[in-house]
Amino acid sequence: MKFDPATEIQNFLAFGEFGDVNPSICDSSTYTFMSVEKMEEVFEHEIEGCFLYSRHWNPTNRALANALARMEAGESAQVMASGMAAISTTLLQLCSSGDEIVSSRTVYGGTYALLANLFPRFGITTRFVDLGDEQAVKAAMTSRTRVVYCESVSNPLLEVADIPTLAHVARERGAQLVVDNTFSPLLISPLRLGADVVVHSMTKFINGTSDCVAGCVVSSNDFIARLNDINSGPSMLLGPVLDSIRAAGILKNLHGLHVRMARHSQNAEFLARRLQAAGLTVHYPGLESHPQHQLMTRLMNPGYGFGGILALDVGNKAIADRLMMRMQAEKVGYLAVSLGYFRTLFSAPSRSTSSEIPSEERQRMGMGDGLIRFSVGLDNDMERTWSTVNGCLQELGIGGGYAGHTHAVAS
Ligand code: PLP
Repeated sequence: MKFDPATEIQNFLAFGEFGDVNPSICDSSTYTFMSVEKMEEVFEHEIEGCFLYSRHWNPTNRALANALARMEAGESAQVMASGMAAISTTLLQLCSSGDEIVSSRTVYGGTYALLANLFPRFGITTRFVDLGDEQAVKAAMTSRTRVVYCESVSNPLLEVADIPTLAHVARERGAQLVVDNTFSPLLISPLRLGADVVVHSMTKFINGTSDCVAGCVVSSNDFIARLNDINSGPSMLLGPVLDSIRAAGILKNLHGLHVRMARHSQNAEFLARRLQAAGLTVHYPGLESHPQHQLMTRLMNPGYGFGGILALDVGNKAIADRLMMRMQAEKVGYLAVSLGYFRTLFSAPSRSTSSEIPSEERQRMGMGDGLIRFSVGLDNDMERTWSTVNGCLQELGIGGGYAGHTHAVAS
């Protein structure tokens, strides 16, 4: 039967304690037991419906985790206080001292810094490769490689990972494929394409209101149980627990994610096509010129478009800075990092979210100082938005002028 992640979320019906349509927020760090024996039993093994301490599990967090597991077609999920907590605990669950990770070189700057700077202190080393080059991936793997790591659509250059191929390569060598799906919730379902673990920064599209930082891990029952094990689980022992009030808010926002993603994609594709028609260099997987356009078309779930993020290369820092300042002044959106917000956000990754990546590495991957990442908002009238953006471009004398003929944008 056809898999639709939004229908999976819709099929998740959680009842509150009093029949409330939003599950009750559990406002407790600890839980009482009616007998000492029961408490001992719960400490020994998990019992459905029994909770012992909110760093381990909280009913509100559980409701959100169950909905996310359905969305990602996983058996189980755990929610966390940030996307970085989801990534770091997952990798610590899979790797011990002496183990190796093969990672895409185009990953979020914080992930790059975790792998390049922090993990080596604990004996976990990473080789960064171009994951589009299957031979390079294979060559980088050794008998100590435990993880192949990528973003389904990468930050900020929007390279699309060939998840089925990477999953096959990882499995052949006894490694696990971990995919960060932050840029493409609903659009891509990595577990269905062969990945072993999916992580998200829910700070972004999943929550969608830029009012909190949160993350999640989705995988098998066994993986999530080990992540949460009271004696050895990185999530339980490092303690990046999500606050239940935040979990309740994210669960409510999750139910509108399909509407938002379709509109973010529609608006981003509109802007990408207009910028390209104006003669500018644009990275957007929905454009036929994007190197992985065909691959994304093959991998994606229908109905949600190619995502809400695009990258515009205006060539140099001075122009990028002036353009961003003009766009903020003209209320196109905010000069701000992060993404997935209902308003448009833009920033220069080489000097912000990817500044952790050494400049030679950034040059190699094609991320110059003139690159601007846009997280395109839910604007109702994109003709109006384009006319404002075009005005800013004209003022700066870039983009040769839009001649008025773009491809029709799919709704
Ligand atoms: N993964 C990606 C692709 C990101 O863009 C980010 C943050 O920008 C993260 C992970 C980290 O998430 P958080 O800020 O929620 O820790």
